[in-house]
Amino acid sequence: MKPATFITKRTIVCPECSNDTGSSIEHLINPNRDTTFGPWYCDECGSSFIGLVDKSGQVFLELNPNDKQHEAMTLVSLPPQTEPFYFLLKRKVWTRDGKVDLDLDYYINEHSCPTNWLRDIEVVMINDDSDPHGVIRHVRTMEMKDFNEAVRQVKIEGSIIGANHEDDGDFSNLEYEVMRKAFPEVIKDSE
Ligand SMILES: [Zn+2]
Repeated sequence: MKPATFITKRTIVCPECSNDTGSSIEHLINPNRDTTFGPWYCDECGSSFIGLVDKSGQVFLELNPNDKQHEAMTLVSLPPQTEPFYFLLKRKVWTRDGKVDLDLDYYINEHSCPTNWLRDIEVVMINDDSDPHGVIRHVRTMEMKDFNEAVRQVKIEGSIIGANHEDDGDFSNLEYEVMRKAFPEVIKDSE
């Protein structure tokens, strides 16, 4: 083994709640001029702030007391298409006995839920268009606090029903019940 080397990066501490925002300013330091940035947001408390890095690398911040970042859940829909909709996924593959294994048929086609790998999308493409604005449509966005309330209600209802019908397993599919509560427009037989 060899001794490790390290890179030290300064990240901004939220001026409101002192959370480490993880946002680095190193790339903004310019010895020739002052640089402004923002608005940036704190993932912990949602506070909004703007800042300035001066020529010497000193950083100054100012809170925007009227603006905040809110977490939300956004439902989007891919309407029925006549052409295939392609996703290019950026993945890791592994070697087996020194040979790269590129056969993902079983993993993609049978073993895993698309939820597990659609987050790896690099490119979407349809009809020879790799920039298909408008193909996926916005349905509705709800604030995270309202979504979390729906999850809470489902869990309460689940525990009541579970007590009455121990073997039913009706609420074993939490994601389905949460979607039915929060985004009923996705359920086929909903009105
Ligand atoms: Zn904060």
